[in-house]
Amino acid sequence: MAYLYLYLILGVVFGLLCRRAALEKDRNGRTWFWLGFFLSIPAFLVLLLLPEGGPHRQCPRCGRRVPQKAVVCGFCGTRLDRSIDV
Ligand SMILES: [Zn+2]
Repeated sequence: MAYLYLYLILGVVFGLLCRRAALEKDRNGRTWFWLGFFLSIPAFLVLLLLPEGGPHRQCPRCGRRVPQKAVVCGFCGTRLDRSIDV
């Protein structure tokens, strides 16, 4: 039973790590959370090797890089004006 808890805890940790790294690279956070949850280290390594996707701009509130087409910042939740390009 202890192994099950360990597996779940490590799954969540790697899931969150992969989600964070995926959002930084303009990848799907939910998809990469589950890949990290089930595959852990291999998923994280693959994600680190993937190139960043699509054009970006900077969130005016938190300063993080968000996809050009984003309507809401994925990090702080700020609603983004589509006409502002950085
Ligand atoms: Zn933001």
